[in-house]
Parts: sequence; structure tokens; C-alpha cells
Amino acid sequence: MNADKIQNQLLDPRADPGGDYLVRALAYGGLVRAVAVRSTDVCATAREIHGLSPVTTAALGRLLSGVLLLTPDLEKKDDSITAIIRSDGPIESMTVVGQSVGRVRGSIRHPVVPGTLIRPGKLDVGQAVGRGQLTIVRDMGLKEPYVGQVDLVSGEIAEDLTAYLSLSEQIPSAIGLGVRMDQSGVTHAGGFLVQLLPDAGDEIAEHLESRVSGFPEVSYLMEEGFNPHQILDLLFGDPEIQYSDVTPCRYECPCNRKRMEQNLLTLGAAELASLAEDPEGIQLECHFCERRYRFTQNEVRGLISG
Ligand code: ZN
Repeated sequence: MNADKIQNQLLDPRADPGGDYLVRALAYGGLVRAVAVRSTDVCATAREIHGLSPVTTAALGRLLSGVLLLTPDLEKKDDSITAIIRSDGPIESMTVVGQSVGRVRGSIRHPVVPGTLIRPGKLDVGQAVGRGQLTIVRDMGLKEPYVGQVDLVSGEIAEDLTAYLSLSEQIPSAIGLGVRMDQSGVTHAGGFLVQLLPDAGDEIAEHLESRVSGFPEVSYLMEEGFNPHQILDLLFGDPEIQYSDVTPCRYECPCNRKRMEQNLLTLGAAELASLAEDPEGIQLECHFCERRYRFTQNEVRGLISG
């Protein structure tokens, strides 16, 4: 964000800061909360890091965008939210971690799988994901993290996250997610999350349900030039909607050599001793950013005695 853009943002909470960002809003007199995100660069980065094929770009991109929508809940420095999908489709598993507001990273078991189309131009993400479970781990710095799990509804990600929020966390929610691509890569990606607050009555719930059910696909709207603010404007049709500050979003992996050492230590003495037998040492690769860390035989031995 350059100085002019920041200035615009201060003058107008609806100003588009450019690049990936998320915005929070309250609508219908504060009875409904919403988040919308533009995650085009985040999804393009994931595609590049993991060498994703089109259908895995769509699948992991949707999960990254979906977790971004949940990151405004991360209030403290070490809070995190992790979404894990394990399934019987060609992808097998995906993990996305939200580390702070607007920061995510993701990994996928099989980055390249053949895609099929639901209709021309529309990849069948549900087929690539298959049936299985979605697990969400919210680590809010308490003694125990909060863990919830639901069966996948369709493998299309947005419906699965919606089911998780509605069933496991009992917050009536609606989520829309989309990732669009052309030959060159990701052209548009984003999403929205809408949640009813406890005082919202049936009337607002029904009104919102009818607006959400007829709502165009997010990626289509983005292609038409809508930014996250404008997507929420269109969704709610509420001239009194209140936006709070925007947060820039990016793909970020906080891994480093120290953390990798700690991962090695969790293997236990016996496993480390067996790894220390290799005169070549070992090489670890981070699943989220594919950065490589080499440990010589002496360094592995040092960890054991350490
Ligand atoms: Zn990493």
C-alpha cells in the first residue's frame, strides 16, 4: 500500500487498497457480521510454490481463501487456525494454516491430479476432493485447542466450511468461494463469509438466505470488476453497512531452521539415532513453502546429545 492509497483508505473506508485484502463489516443494524476477501495473489503463490494443476489450484485456493475469512478471529500473536481435509479423492489431503489476520499457508498431498469439468470452464473440485472429513483446529493460546470435525458435504470447500461453522460451532453461516484461472494462471480468487449474530431473528435469517441462494459466483463478480467491499454491498443491499479497516493478505510461511530442529526433536531419541546413521545427513523440506533444510550427520548427532 503506498502513501496515497493509505490516505484514501483513511478518507474512505470503501477505498480499494489494491492487491489482496480482507474487509470486515456489520450489516442490518449490527445483527449480521461479514468478511470478504480478495486472494488472487495468495492462490497464485500457492500454485507456484507447489506446482499445482488447475483442479488442485481451485481446491487449495478455495481452502486458503476460506481460512483467510476466518483469520479475523485470531486476536493474539500466537493464535492460529488450521483446516485439514482428509478424503478418498485423488487429492487425499490438504492443510491450510491461518497464522494471523490475513496470513495463510497451505499444503496438499497430491499437487497434480487430473481434473474433470462440471460444465465448460468449471472444474469439478468435489470430484478431486471426494468424500472425507474436514477438521478445524482453533489454537487460541488456551490449555487445549478447540477441535471440531464434520463430514464433507460435497468436497466443494465452501459448503464444507459452511457445514462446519453451522454444525460444529453452531453459528448460522454462509460462505462463497471462487478461484478463476486461464492458461497463464490464477486470474481472480476470493470469497465472502456471512454470519448471523445471536440477536438476529428469523426474519433476517430468511431474508439473508434468499439473497445468498441467488447470489452470483464470487469469481464471476471479481472478473466483472467487483472488489470485496462491492461484493458485500451487492450481497446485503444495505446502505447502512459499516466497514472496518482492511487488512492486506498474503501467503506466508514462518518456518526456519530452529523450528525444523524442534520438529526433528519431536521424533524422539530412537528415530533420531537411526537418522544419525546416515553419513550424508538429512534434508527436510517444509510442506508449506518447500524451503529445504539440510542437517549434516554431526548436526543430527548434536540434536540427540543436545
Ligand atoms: Zn515453510
